[in-house]
Amino acid sequence: MKVTVDQELCISCGLCISICDEVFHWNADDRAEAVATDVPEELEQDVQEAVESCPTDAIKYA
Ligand code: SF4
Repeated sequence: MKVTVDQELCISCGLCISICDEVFHWNADDRAEAVATDVPEELEQDVQEAVESCPTDAIKYA
């Protein structure tokens, strides 16, 4: 499963990072980005939670 953050949609609320900082980090523009785009199986549930929690649906996961 691959995960990416749409930089145009991210409003820097920080939820995804607080849910799963193994996958999401702040980038130089103070937006969230996925550092591990290929999500390990043990983190899939956390990433799914981040996807559902993101207020702008900025996280794409498929
Ligand atoms: S939860 Fe969504 S809007 Fe908030 S920092 Fe993460 S990607 Fe950006």
